[in-house]
Amino acid sequence: MTSSKIIAGNWKMNGTATFLKECLSYWQSLSLVHNLVICPPFTLLTEANKSIHSSKVSLGAQDCHQKLTGAFTGNISADHVKETGCSYVIIGHSERRQYHGENNDLIKAKAETAISSGLKPVICVGENLGEREQGVTLEILQTQIEACLPNSSRDFLVAYEPVWAIGTGKAASLKDIEEVHGFLRKLVGSGIPLLYGGSVTAENCKEIISLSDVDGVLVGGASLKKQDFGRMLCGQ
Ligand code: PEP
Repeated sequence: MTSSKIIAGNWKMNGTATFLKECLSYWQSLSLVHNLVICPPFTLLTEANKSIHSSKVSLGAQDCHQKLTGAFTGNISADHVKETGCSYVIIGHSERRQYHGENNDLIKAKAETAISSGLKPVICVGENLGEREQGVTLEILQTQIEACLPNSSRDFLVAYEPVWAIGTGKAASLKDIEEVHGFLRKLVGSGIPLLYGGSVTAENCKEIISLSDVDGVLVGGASLKKQDFGRMLCGQ
């Protein structure tokens, strides 16, 4: 029997309320093998929560601020996220690092705040193409892990997302994923779920998710394909 893993869907700045409702209804009609964490845009969270009726489906946000309240126009706090019904929040996604200048210190602060609000942060780490080509992947990951992980609790997840694999259609090889996840497992110890992200599709999900030390996947583009994502959730 296939063991139950975590499949998180990061919709980024995509999707509509109608499509999300349709997807949730479809996915929850299936015999889900894996646990879904759906992470749509902020504005869809409250409505999405009303459509969740399976114990195998949870809600996540894509970011939160490092402070709980204050004069931060346009930002959303971890308490706001929690209030929508979310259990998870993605922190430090490479697109936040790249387009919003987020660094390891900020990511750690956000993770600590998320935990204080009762959310489980999914903390993203990953090397860029230059670092992979220079052969310094493990050093980069060690630096990110040491700098980003919260001290206050072990109630978080880590997502290994090589930047060069995100949205490119070029997933890391099974060998590379196994090597990195083995390394991360030694760094973080047992009990912390380790997700892989980067061009996971209905074609490669099953193999990736069955690797040792891979507790799940973080999926971008393919999570917007209702039927393909449904197959992944059913372990097909
Ligand atoms: C992501 O956004 O976290 C991601 C992994 O995207 P994609 O699956 O499209 O590569």
